[in-house]
Amino acid sequence: ESITDSVKTDAAQDVLQRVFGYDSFRGPQRDIVDQVIGGGDALVLMPTGGGKSLCYQIPALVRPGVGVVISPLIALMQDQVDALRALGVRAGFLNSTQFPDERRAVEAQFVAGELDVLYLAPERLRLESTAQLLDRGTISVFAIDEAHCVSQWGHDFRPDYLALSMVHERWPDVPRIALTATATEATRREIAERLDLTKAKHFVASFDRPNIQYRIEGKNRADQQLLQFINSEHAGDAGIVYCLSRNSVEKTAAFLSANGITAVPYHAGLDNRTRATNQSRFLREDGLVVVATIAFGMGIDKPDVRFVAHLDLPKSVEGYYQETGRAGRDGLPSTAWMVYGLNDVVQQRKMIESSDGDLAHRRQLNLHLDAMLALCETVQCRRTQLLNYFSQSSRPCGNCDTCLTPPEAWDGTVAAQKALSAVLRLKRERGQSFGAGHIVDILIGKRNPKVEQHAHHELKVFGAGTELRDIEWRGVIRQLLAQGLLAVHGDYGVLTLTEASNKVLFEKQQVMFRREPERTKPARTPKAA
Ligand code: ADP
Ligand code: ZN
Repeated sequence: ESITDSVKTDAAQDVLQRVFGYDSFRGPQRDIVDQVIGGGDALVLMPTGGGKSLCYQIPALVRPGVGVVISPLIALMQDQVDALRALGVRAGFLNSTQFPDERRAVEAQFVAGELDVLYLAPERLRLESTAQLLDRGTISVFAIDEAHCVSQWGHDFRPDYLALSMVHERWPDVPRIALTATATEATRREIAERLDLTKAKHFVASFDRPNIQYRIEGKNRADQQLLQFINSEHAGDAGIVYCLSRNSVEKTAAFLSANGITAVPYHAGLDNRTRATNQSRFLREDGLVVVATIAFGMGIDKPDVRFVAHLDLPKSVEGYYQETGRAGRDGLPSTAWMVYGLNDVVQQRKMIESSDGDLAHRRQLNLHLDAMLALCETVQCRRTQLLNYFSQSSRPCGNCDTCLTPPEAWDGTVAAQKALSAVLRLKRERGQSFGAGHIVDILIGKRNPKVEQHAHHELKVFGAGTELRDIEWRGVIRQLLAQGLLAVHGDYGVLTLTEASNKVLFEKQQVMFRREPERTKPARTPKAA
């Protein structure tokens, strides 16, 4: 180790204590900071709350020049800059929300070397004028935050990110650090490739969040289940409730408020003012619940979020992990709670079918959904399954619903055959396709008007499934959909057979299902003081 190395190393520790007020680095922070200060590139995978910001802020302060941080989170730039200024760091930002004279002031500071950190929106960097501006100052490091936005198949793709490989071409001597909380091995490779980071050292922190308890329950009446969950386990706690649509966000927020819980809505359809107010109330008040679409939360740093609830199924495991990761950033016990049912699968498959984009894109979306469904239907430890998805391993954790109340697996081959042959016979004998509800009615032999109208009580499969209840058949169909043994189409969500169905129908392939425990026991977790 040369003398300059140890001087730099001391400088990093010194900045950590003097500027940020922390005693020691966390996890791989130290190695990352050293790599970048030494002029090397880094690709950092660290879960939300892991402490990514320091990984580029410290090199920006230790190396001569200005650290340029590229971030898509324009709405948060002001907050980030304010937070740094409060610590005595000279920070500024350039994005499209600024008045021209504000922008000119920041540009002047940059050129004069009066900044330590400059936040930049990715679309700014594409402007030749911005590149020329950057040429006039000294850049200490390029940090590319939320680097997964470069992934075309990811859930957060931003076209502007594709142009960021130019950073390396134009400023080859400036070290770069790309950071993300969301990455499978495939995404990581894609980031490295697209950002021209092939020589970067990779740093992968553990994705385990041991203080988060993962639970996924069957959905009956989502709003009542949510109320019960909050009242029995998280009364008075801050939390985030995610819903798919703006409409259900509004309804759920109103429902919680009517039942004595302080809850506010957040979605892209609200005016800026209401959104900003609700967000800052969430950050500043104790025990507020935000009911939101996924528009809420990226970059939000509130340490004491005690629960994240999902009333609708996320589209991918990455999304689920990212959203649940907003709970418990302070390390105290927290809950990731979700309800999930047949309609979620039907709805998501339908959305994919009707989505824009080519076949390859839709296939990709289906693969994302499949992984999410596998997590929902697993009889293994949720955490093991989740970490496996990120190519990391874990023993059964003892702190998830499947560990606490193990579900049974049962041989559902006969049930699967019955359900599939109901679909098959309707098609073959009547040329018809129906949705899940009607198939279940046929199986349990329910003579309702629709059955009468189509004379479906005359089918051989009518009443062939009286050994299971309505709700259990819905579970069977949900799991057939999840396993790709049934498909769903069109506006009415009609069920059709798949290639794989034939193996079950005609080759006696075994099908295993998960039997829901009667009720997931509320967790025994100590409440935060
Ligand atoms: P991320 O961007 O990875 O989600 P942040 O950089 O926002 O995470 O850090 C999360 C929280 O952890 C912040 O409150 C931050 O101040 C704190 N933190 C980060 N590094 C350290 C450290 N070495 N010691 C103590 N607290 C830290
Ligand atoms: Zn577990």
